[in-house]
Amino acid sequence: MAMFKLKNRIQNYAWGSKTSMADLFGFDNLENHPQAELWMGAHPGGCSELEPLGELLSDYINKNAHEALGRYTTQRYGQLPFLFKVLAAHTPLSIQVHPNKANSERGFELETKKGIALDANNRNYKDPNHKPELVYALTKYKAMNGFRPIRHIISLFDEIALSSLEVELDALKTTQTKDGLKRFFTALMAFSGAEKLAILNEFQDVFERSNMSVMLQLAIGYSQSFAEYYSDDIGILAPLILNIVELEPGEAMFLHAETPHAYVKGTALEIMASSDNVLRAGLTPKYIDVNELISNTSFESIPLEQLKLTPISVEEQLRFPVPVDDFAFDVINVGHSVKEQYTRSAEILFCIEGEAKICTGGTYLTLRAGDSVFIPYSTSSYCHVGKGKLARAYN
Ligand SMILES: [Zn+2]
Repeated sequence: MAMFKLKNRIQNYAWGSKTSMADLFGFDNLENHPQAELWMGAHPGGCSELEPLGELLSDYINKNAHEALGRYTTQRYGQLPFLFKVLAAHTPLSIQVHPNKANSERGFELETKKGIALDANNRNYKDPNHKPELVYALTKYKAMNGFRPIRHIISLFDEIALSSLEVELDALKTTQTKDGLKRFFTALMAFSGAEKLAILNEFQDVFERSNMSVMLQLAIGYSQSFAEYYSDDIGILAPLILNIVELEPGEAMFLHAETPHAYVKGTALEIMASSDNVLRAGLTPKYIDVNELISNTSFESIPLEQLKLTPISVEEQLRFPVPVDDFAFDVINVGHSVKEQYTRSAEILFCIEGEAKICTGGTYLTLRAGDSVFIPYSTSSYCHVGKGKLARAYN
């Protein structure tokens, strides 16, 4: 069976970079739009087309499910189980949590029963699926991921010493457990009106201080950049509560269900289960459902060392192990000698840099940086040769 070069949709969300995809991959941007996300996959929100005929990947998969996906994936998922993206953030994205699988099923059913339209702004659950994510940095990539250890949260809030949060901080000091953290976070999210403004005013005075611990300095740097866009959003306190993660190009991290996270700045590849379920927790003009958010958040601290993924090196490939089976992700170093690769599912290859020839069944395609190809399951193997780097999405 053939393989197909992909023509992918670019999403022009306001937070996107106007230059990063053009610089890295030479994508046209004549109208100077923000190029936030390039979607590779069959998701209805931005389905890839097969070149040269322009058929939608989703139509192709529906017509040829067993060849395209294999029997197992067809039966288990009924669709391409992953969505693969290039994401280029110029300004911060909202702080968010993705529900787990069971809650997604329950929430989707409940909101459908209540008759809340899929595109209504108070609709939380767009599909019954979970949305674990892996991020692989292409440039330096700034993000927040998971709760800091409680003792660090206490020491940061002790250092800023906001009188308007004294009661909540004392309560956290007395109960340094998941429950205590849940109460502290819930109290912060619940502030509104004058009370919230008092906290934020007092907090923004901290920005002027000259003497700070290193940990606070880094957090305040993030808060300051958030305050430029969302000065009256309680989310500007999030860097004191969540881990700050800065990935170097080539490093990756995993984002678990029920874990608050935010992408702040940088360009990365992102692979996720095919879902759009997002509960927002701040830094957003969009709808926040605090109760739903709290009941879908795990108040477990994650140490910083556990956030980055340690890849397993297999010959010329780096495999980034993930704790879900909706997707798998490798980075392949393409070299001068021809290598054969066996497929176990449908695959999407994206050329990160350089140039690679992909051959199968007597035909070949050349991929340059920014190009991608869909390889159906029934291809069973392909070879690559050239000089460059490929990202490999499969399941
Ligand atoms: Zn996310």
